[in-house]
Amino acid sequence: MPAEHLGRTPLDTLNTFGVHAFAHDLWRVHALSDLPQLVAKLDEHPGPPPFVLGGGSNLLLTGDVGVPVVQVALRGFRVVRDEGDAVIVEGAAGESWDALVSWSIAAGLNGLQNLALIPGTVGAAPIQNIGAYGVELRDCFDSLDAIDLRTGRWRSFDAAECAFAYRHSVFKTSGQTHWLVCAVRFRLSRSAPLQLDYGDLREELARAGRTTPSASDVAEAVRAIRQRKLPDPAVLGNAGSFFKNPVISAQQAATLQSREPGLPCWPASGSAVKVSAGWMIDQCGWKGFREGDAGVHAAHALVLVNHGHAQGRDILALALRIRDSVRARFGVVLEPEPVILGNATL
Ligand SMILES: Cc1cc2nc3c(=O)[nH]c(=O)nc-3n(C[C@H](O)[C@H](O)[C@H](O)COP(=O)(O)OP(=O)(O)OC[C@H]3O[C@@H](n4cnc5c(N)ncnc54)[C@H](O)[C@@H]3O)c2cc1C
Repeated sequence: MPAEHLGRTPLDTLNTFGVHAFAHDLWRVHALSDLPQLVAKLDEHPGPPPFVLGGGSNLLLTGDVGVPVVQVALRGFRVVRDEGDAVIVEGAAGESWDALVSWSIAAGLNGLQNLALIPGTVGAAPIQNIGAYGVELRDCFDSLDAIDLRTGRWRSFDAAECAFAYRHSVFKTSGQTHWLVCAVRFRLSRSAPLQLDYGDLREELARAGRTTPSASDVAEAVRAIRQRKLPDPAVLGNAGSFFKNPVISAQQAATLQSREPGLPCWPASGSAVKVSAGWMIDQCGWKGFREGDAGVHAAHALVLVNHGHAQGRDILALALRIRDSVRARFGVVLEPEPVILGNATL
């Protein structure tokens, strides 16, 4: 068999919003050797490329998925090369991201600790260049292996070829969504300095009495902050931040700040400025809003939630209203962070 064929399958437990939708045709890949046969099988019914599913934690399903869905269940971590201080490690795409973070720290390696407890899989992590607490995946990325689901061709990508940017990579650009990432490699270090200067990380470490913290202490502090602040998708459906922080010109940011002095801004690449989407949404009065079972988290204006039985299109409709109100008041257009899949998009 080319991979495990599950056919028509409910996706309710395979997306962290917990919305109801079906995959018309679901395949699960357990071994690299399944992939060439699967590509040949999918090629018997040519059409748009299949959708590659990881943990469904950056996904809003607005209807059933008509294209084949390929779920990646490849497993394993390994040390690829030990170069003394630097060590190249590899995680298979279907492994949990947080398990890779824990495994690397247990091996005495620094680099991934600030990214602890981000939900999802290793294979999805480069797709949007995951980031948290002052670190992005690209900071310690080495390379990845992927298969072209149209042709069955294998290819490795280095960091430049991945074209990482803020919550973005080449794999999110149109015409490049046919790659299935199989394995991702990271260049970690036995002694690199830790990144502690972000948000409330230092405060959390001080509270835990960690004056000279290790990578493990940093990961524990990040986990504690995240558990305190972010809703657990197992309890309240969500996909983390629903909108990216918009990146605007320095001139537009200056004009906006003169009108809205409280607007939090951070330097972005070049002279561009990143502005806080959460703050703008909050100012528009959305925090804690609820209509039916679709809502905005009471503590986090950036996190849209499913209180129980919201459909994907209810959450999308709310996202559209939020985007319109922010555009009307601030003249800034919000972009969604999750992938929106089904019969309606933003
Ligand atoms: C509570 C919560 C907190 C979060 N916090 C953060 C955060 O701090 N920082 C952050 O960056 N993100 C955050 N996220 C978003 C999410 O966890 C990440 O984007 C994660 O990398 C998604 O992984 P996944 O396996 O669930 O991907 P999915 O949601 O399954 O897929 C996301 C995208 O990746 C593609 N994809 C998945 N696997 C592969 C593969 N093997 N090959 C090719 N394409 C693939 C899919 O086709 C889709 O386009 C959060 C989400 C939640 C629910």
